[in-house]
Amino acid sequence: MNAIILLGPPGAGKGSLAESLVREGYTHVSTGDMLREAFKNETAVGLEAKSYMDRGALVPDDVIINIIRERLGDAPADEKFMFDGFPRTLNQAQGLDQLITDLNGVITHVIMMECPDEMIIKRLSGRRICRSCGAVYHVTNKPSKVDGVCDFDGGELYQRDDDNEDTVRNRLSVYTEQTKPLVAYYADKNLICPIDASGSIQLSVDSALSYLNG
Ligand SMILES: [Zn+2]
Repeated sequence: MNAIILLGPPGAGKGSLAESLVREGYTHVSTGDMLREAFKNETAVGLEAKSYMDRGALVPDDVIINIIRERLGDAPADEKFMFDGFPRTLNQAQGLDQLITDLNGVITHVIMMECPDEMIIKRLSGRRICRSCGAVYHVTNKPSKVDGVCDFDGGELYQRDDDNEDTVRNRLSVYTEQTKPLVAYYADKNLICPIDASGSIQLSVDSALSYLNG
């Protein structure tokens, strides 16, 4: 079993890259989806995780690792997994390494999307959304015909709180701080594959595939 890990700041297009890699045959591992699935099926680890969440506590790393173990343990040997949004900490990375080793698998690549902060700030802070239909615009890249008004239904365009420039700067610095130890950890293992995410999403996909298939 092979696994890859995607790392990328908010606004780098990680979701779109993940979708494209699913089309290339990778199984998307979302710990959120796995948790929900484990609750629904009332597996032992699912119930354990739920007991933490019911108390309003964070689910500990080893419980999450066990939920991943449940899912990956049944997988055919040739299945390729893609981790997105996990691991977030060094402790989780070490737990994941141990798990993949236990399952006779290998982490082959850590795809790291890189994009200058200022470009991400422009991308995200220029985003506007229609209050009535949810259409997404961008003040410079995809403006509406009339400023502040949706082309389709005349709805009011607004900026999500998350896309406010100060919030974006804060999200980026949290991401950078959180990711630093992971990058160092995987760089040590020669797994980091940096890709330039400042262009189109297709460029990101092509560059990721050149690592994965090359
Ligand atoms: Zn609209």
